[in-house]
Amino acid sequence: MKKSAVVLFLFFIYCSVVFAQHYNDFFNDKACRVDFHFCGNAQQTNIFLDKVKQEPFWGGRRGHLSNNLNLGDYRFRVLDSISHQQIYLDGFSSLYHEWQTSPEALTTNKSFEQTIQFPFPRKAVTLIIEKRTDLDHWSELFRYKLSPTDKLIQHINPKVVPVKIISKNAAPDKAIDIAVIAEGYTAKEQRKFYRDAQRLAENLLTHEPFTKYKSRINIYAVAATSEESGISLSTDSVWKNTAVGSHFYTFYEPRYLTTLNTFKVRDLAALVPYDAIYVLANTTTYGGGGIYNFYALTAAGNKLSTQVTVHEFGHSFAGLADEYFYEKQDALDGMYDIKKEPWEPNITSLVQFDRKWKNKIPEGTPIPTPPTEENKTKIGIFEGGGYLTKGMYRPMFDCRMRTNQAPEFCPVCQQAVERMILFLTE
Ligand SMILES: [Zn+2]
Repeated sequence: MKKSAVVLFLFFIYCSVVFAQHYNDFFNDKACRVDFHFCGNAQQTNIFLDKVKQEPFWGGRRGHLSNNLNLGDYRFRVLDSISHQQIYLDGFSSLYHEWQTSPEALTTNKSFEQTIQFPFPRKAVTLIIEKRTDLDHWSELFRYKLSPTDKLIQHINPKVVPVKIISKNAAPDKAIDIAVIAEGYTAKEQRKFYRDAQRLAENLLTHEPFTKYKSRINIYAVAATSEESGISLSTDSVWKNTAVGSHFYTFYEPRYLTTLNTFKVRDLAALVPYDAIYVLANTTTYGGGGIYNFYALTAAGNKLSTQVTVHEFGHSFAGLADEYFYEKQDALDGMYDIKKEPWEPNITSLVQFDRKWKNKIPEGTPIPTPPTEENKTKIGIFEGGGYLTKGMYRPMFDCRMRTNQAPEFCPVCQQAVERMILFLTE
């Protein structure tokens, strides 16, 4: 071994020890789950605590504990109670935040379930939840002192549900662990669910950069049983009794398929170590939804499911924005303010474009980049994205985050996904 290689090797060992010491100094191998409610209306956001649970597995990262990738409408910080040192940081988004832009939020107060999870602390900590005000600033919404010895922290093992390993390539602390949860499958349809979960996994792994990092991805199928087969408010407009109660017509948008029962989803995910949750819905109706560090949920049996499952995972796993936009009114109109730079890596309002893909395009690239045949395969600044036709820009003419015809993620989206994979596994 050359001297430089020896130094590099020793440095790597040193880094591993430092990370390991840091994690083990503050956390054990279980997960701390905090359930709360986002309550309010278009103008107000309040947080009310529901419960704290200890769950059997921590499947998340063990390195970079007090950094994050600056994604999400919210973030939470965990501080050591004595030293006030920040020992964990993570970003997330919510269905509540989207609802706040809907007409209903102008006249109604509502609450939405939300869960955050971090490694279970060994000593007392302070949990702070903050809302993003712009790309670099936050305002505090909630502060809570959490003692790991609190008797009322629920140590309940999740209800036993059959779990099948679809692919296991690395130890959970070095892998992206994806919990795929059955929704709308009866006991008799368990094998159908496993086949659908297998198809979702194979399809995801054909998309870059998931293909490149296949050896770091574990996928588990959690076969939750539904009383009735299918999904509520699909083509027949009937409500069904299903494992996590998902339905179409979220915010009255026919194809927007979500569940409000976040706590139920987390109870099922807790059966395995997980970084990401995928709820697979037993329906042929087109639809889905995906929210950053929350969950992805899609129809398993539609002819476009192959594309949609990957698109929604782009949202939930890497915080990618929708690159599409419509001339007509959309349920999510009002999600973005073009006077601010959005936090999502794949759209820009040009307010802080240097924080986005500016370094990937030649100087003098026209704004907006004309969608000519020649430009369609190049990275540029194409107008339209984030549900807006004007004032918001995307990196490529087409991308998995824009249409179902696009064969793959654009290079900017691929890089964002890769960055997340490396962040969680190294
Ligand atoms: Zn893209």
